[in-house]
Amino acid sequence: MQKEITVALVGNPNCGKTSLFNALTGLNHKVSNFAGTTVEKKTGETKLSAGVKAQIIDLPGTYSLYPKSADELVTYEILRNKAENNYPDLVIFIADASNLKRNLLLFSQVADLGVPIILCLNMMDVAERKGIRYDLKLLEKELGVPIFAINARKQEGIDNIKSALLNDKLRITAQYYNLDHVNAKMLDEICKATDKRNKYAALQFAINASSLLSEKAQRIIKLFEKYSFDTRKFQEDEILSRYHIIETTVRNARLKNTSQLKNSLTHKVDEILTHRYWGIGIFLVLLLLVFQAMFSWSSYPMDFVEYIFGLISNYIETQMPKGILNDLMVQGILAGLSGVMIFLPQIIILFLFIAILEDVGYMARVGFMMDRIMRPFGMNGKSIVPLISGMACAVPSIMASRNIENKKERLITILVTPLMSCSARLPVYTLLIGMLIPDTAKWGPFNVHGLVLMLMYLIGFVAAIFSAWIFKFFIKQKQKNYFIMELPSYKMPVFSNLMITLYEKAGAFVWGAGKIIVAVSVVLWVLASTGPHGNIAKVEQKFASTINNDTIPETLREEAKLQMNSQKLEASYAGEFGKMIEPAIRPLGFDWKIGIALLTSLAAREVFVGTMSTIYSVNDDGGEETFSNIKTKMQAEINSQTGKPSYSLATILSLMIFYAFALQCMSTIAVVKKETHSNKWPIIQFVYMTVLAYASSFLVFTIFT
Ligand code: GDP
Ligand code: MG
Repeated sequence: MQKEITVALVGNPNCGKTSLFNALTGLNHKVSNFAGTTVEKKTGETKLSAGVKAQIIDLPGTYSLYPKSADELVTYEILRNKAENNYPDLVIFIADASNLKRNLLLFSQVADLGVPIILCLNMMDVAERKGIRYDLKLLEKELGVPIFAINARKQEGIDNIKSALLNDKLRITAQYYNLDHVNAKMLDEICKATDKRNKYAALQFAINASSLLSEKAQRIIKLFEKYSFDTRKFQEDEILSRYHIIETTVRNARLKNTSQLKNSLTHKVDEILTHRYWGIGIFLVLLLLVFQAMFSWSSYPMDFVEYIFGLISNYIETQMPKGILNDLMVQGILAGLSGVMIFLPQIIILFLFIAILEDVGYMARVGFMMDRIMRPFGMNGKSIVPLISGMACAVPSIMASRNIENKKERLITILVTPLMSCSARLPVYTLLIGMLIPDTAKWGPFNVHGLVLMLMYLIGFVAAIFSAWIFKFFIKQKQKNYFIMELPSYKMPVFSNLMITLYEKAGAFVWGAGKIIVAVSVVLWVLASTGPHGNIAKVEQKFASTINNDTIPETLREEAKLQMNSQKLEASYAGEFGKMIEPAIRPLGFDWKIGIALLTSLAAREVFVGTMSTIYSVNDDGGEETFSNIKTKMQAEINSQTGKPSYSLATILSLMIFYAFALQCMSTIAVVKKETHSNKWPIIQFVYMTVLAYASSFLVFTIFT
């Protein structure tokens, strides 16, 4: 008489299931669909002995027993339906030995369903190449199930598996995750409600079913409510506990060799760097150091850039014939260019640190450590990478969010990333902070500028986290998923890699943002030097007699010149524009000049500085149009209505907050539109950030006035 057993191949995608399937069944298989789905079902037969045949099912790859896709659902359905005839007598779990930790997560879940299971370690050759070796006897002992090492591609070790299938003694079940912390009465009721004896299988089925709308689901949901059982928390605990068990097991079974030594060191370092509290403290200190470095290291290169541009504009101004072309070159194009280049040193330093931390392997740890923190805010540990690189520029960061699998978490990350203080805000903050606090101010060993700047970065981060938390309630969750991240080993950063990254990022800033900045700078120059009804000419006429009168002292004539320029600007198109929106921004403490800057900043935030330099440096004689020049002029500005400085503490703070929150970046809007395939999300993002900016600025201005 023929005896037939059913064997299911289960494992993560690409671990070699199909290869093993082919090795076991040869050509002896047929392809159909799983009932009611379009998912391909492959079944094949293999003869184990004269009297025993095995039906092998090649299941689609899956990462977790909480299914997200049709493929995963099929695997889950087969494994849970004990009553049905294709329920396996035995599961062959195939694990990629070079990635054991991640693979064993699903393994432990499947085993806990109570189905007999054997573990096949595939890809041993790949593991070997990576220098990973296991004590298989020890692993077998720790996991409590039979283990076979195979190479599915080369069909090595297949016979061992065939004889294992024949051996009834090897039909072993194992249990890993302990349910003691779950209310026992509830578990009993869940078992009854789901017709299952295995408690984990019942609970797991109930959790999956509770997201459906069936009658059964309603009963289960009521049960969960009765015992105030939080499914999400349970699942998180489950994943973390499983990882904990697996981590220990895998570590113990890993063979000691030279790389083992290094690994235990890695492990020790990781225990500190990813520590619940220490880890985060270290991360914050690192950030602080980065910002301090950004401030102090960049001053010489910035001076140098300034000096070079001073030379160039001086040369052009004196060598080219006076006139409109000269003005365009010096006040339009060169002013814009220097506005781009002056921030290159800071951006390079920031990118350098991010690149080093990433290369060393630290960023992955930050992601791992942050997962616990990010989850309550609707994001996951992987969100920290876009968020942190958002401190450089939101555009590449939003693109970097692609590797977040969960749609909701990804969308939230995209929506809040522009709140992180990007490098385009840096010039704005630098200018404004500089107006509040002298450059040299120290607080203990720290530069006060650096501290205030760090505060602005923190404000951005807190706003991002808070907005994410709000979005969590408004964006529907369509899928569940868990953070699975392998921690890479620490390594020395590769100099050439760093340089390439730096070159690309700096290039992206210069060419991407630079184009817009120069273009806007030119447009602005046009708007600021021309006006309606020949008003500008009228202003010039009015002052001509004073300025050209040699008998009036030099200082008075200079004064008159400054006033003329200010009035000329007011008479220009740009001035008209700013005045038009002034009523709307007056409650924030902004005048029409800031109004001009706000509008031009819609192109990109850093244009603010260029705008201010154009607005305030129309009468720049030496052509050495420096940062401190703009600053001095802004500080000297007197509000003609109040007779007080235009830039009071309240106005400057309000302005800083506005720039912290408003989405003034065309490139970001374009990228969000592309990444979300919609108009809806960029619009929502623009609106919520503008509202947030306006409300916060209003609040700040009101408080500090
Ligand atoms: P499945 O997605 O789990 O069905 O995986 P496949 O059987 O399709 O295998 C994925 C890839 O891994 C294929 O290119 C296989 O040739 C390769 N592969 C399978 N087993 C091994 C192995 O033991 N060693 C190596 N180096 N490659 C393997
Ligand atoms: Mg396959």
